[in-house]
Amino acid sequence: MEKGRTTYLGMNPAPSGASPEPYGSRARVNQNDSYLGVDLGATNLHFILVNKMGKILREKIIPTPRESEKAVEEIIFQTRCLIQKSTKTVGISVAGLVNQKKGIIHFSPNLGWKNLEVIKKIKKYFPRLKVILENDANTAAWGAYFLIGKKKIKNLICLTLGTGLGGGIIINGQLYRGVSGSAGEIGHIILYPQGLRCNCGNYGCIERYVGVNYLVEMAKKEIIQGRKSIIMKLVKGDLKKITPEIIAQAADKNDRLAKNIWEKMGKNLGITLSGIINLLNPGMVVLTGGISKSAKFFLGELKKTLKKNTFSEPLKRVKIVTVKKNLGAIGAALLPRDNY
Ligand SMILES: [Zn+2]
Repeated sequence: MEKGRTTYLGMNPAPSGASPEPYGSRARVNQNDSYLGVDLGATNLHFILVNKMGKILREKIIPTPRESEKAVEEIIFQTRCLIQKSTKTVGISVAGLVNQKKGIIHFSPNLGWKNLEVIKKIKKYFPRLKVILENDANTAAWGAYFLIGKKKIKNLICLTLGTGLGGGIIINGQLYRGVSGSAGEIGHIILYPQGLRCNCGNYGCIERYVGVNYLVEMAKKEIIQGRKSIIMKLVKGDLKKITPEIIAQAADKNDRLAKNIWEKMGKNLGITLSGIINLLNPGMVVLTGGISKSAKFFLGELKKTLKKNTFSEPLKRVKIVTVKKNLGAIGAALLPRDNY
């Protein structure tokens, strides 16, 4: 993170090298303060109002409007409904490349939006609130650092597994953004150079081998090629109805194809994650997002792959945990208070 941008509630600069401490005497955090997080996902718009400990006070989930203008209008409307007098900040997290300083979504491949000005439009309606925009994996990493690592595990990686694969990095208790703010794009590490085309325009990114589309495409392809599976029965013969949830249901019923798909996905993720663990030596890897709910089907293969490819010392020290809560929204709520 850039020096001078770490502030206590945006008021007092943090001492050089110190991690932001919202409870310190200098932090003017009121006991009743609340913070709103908005997770702008490809499928859902998830609003969470939390207290200073990250406890959820109010929550609302609605489908994400396809049109960007409508989505911004919806954020303004729901924010007005959810905030309280005690609300201090609004953090918006989105999958894709964002300019935090200008509050612009540069490119969100899974939403299909480009150069969308968000913060200025929202801020107009809520002049007393601090409103920020951040990449969703970064906010999830902050949520993981705060809630799961309890700010004790100072080096952690957060992976958001959903339509795509997002990555957020916490180093020495600070969100690591890199030189221009794009750090953590783990999903676009190349796994197979001659591989499938990714939404980013490149080929063979790991995201194409662990995300929703990969799982669904694999199931369809195998079934079309004649592989027997109860997936067919679960979707009543309509292949368009295959979802990761259906593949998980089939795996739960011991379906060989479904189990194979999850194992392959676990192996793919394991290859990339072993490189990341070797590189960064984190104390914790947090897996979150919709696909992580099926962790029991891919974690075995993931761990086996990690054992094969990672140096033993960093592997011994890293905890792999899966979290069902929407860390992206909770982190988005808390990040403007702690880290801007
Ligand atoms: Zn890519």
